[in-house]
Amino acid sequence: MTTIFDKAALNLCKRSVTVRLQPPVWALASGAAYKTRTGAAVIDLDPGADLFKTFCHEAAHIRCQFGRMTPSDAWKALPGSLPRASAAAVKANLAAESQADRFASIWENYALRYAARYQANNALERRLKALEAWPKLDVESALELAEYQRQLEAAKSAAARIGR
Ligand SMILES: [Zn+2]
Repeated sequence: MTTIFDKAALNLCKRSVTVRLQPPVWALASGAAYKTRTGAAVIDLDPGADLFKTFCHEAAHIRCQFGRMTPSDAWKALPGSLPRASAAAVKANLAAESQADRFASIWENYALRYAARYQANNALERRLKALEAWPKLDVESALELAEYQRQLEAAKSAAARIGR
């Protein structure tokens, strides 16, 4: 069944994503994004977490870093059954985290601004419906993201040149 989370993720991530409302396989994590061995995208959201914020953050990981994610069977493990990433591993991934936070905050602001235009059962569903339509109503956010992506590409090719 396609949920309202899946629909919003499809628009934000530009690929189909299966969003599961269950604690991530990593112990104590509130959300997680996985790439399966068949190349599918999966997001877990701990039902006890701030679903909206966590969703935006994990969707941003899929949108920005899916190509670099290592495919694995981790998503098949039982919720909370795998040890959480070490502090060192998290620190090594700081660039990825700040990139995800950047995208997430643009989506959050957009959803908060336009949620009232949508009919739904509750605030969360209205925000997700807004994200399903992003960036239709907000040229500024779209331009800001496009500019950010352009800068990232430029930084990446500059890094590649230096590496050569
Ligand atoms: Zn993250």
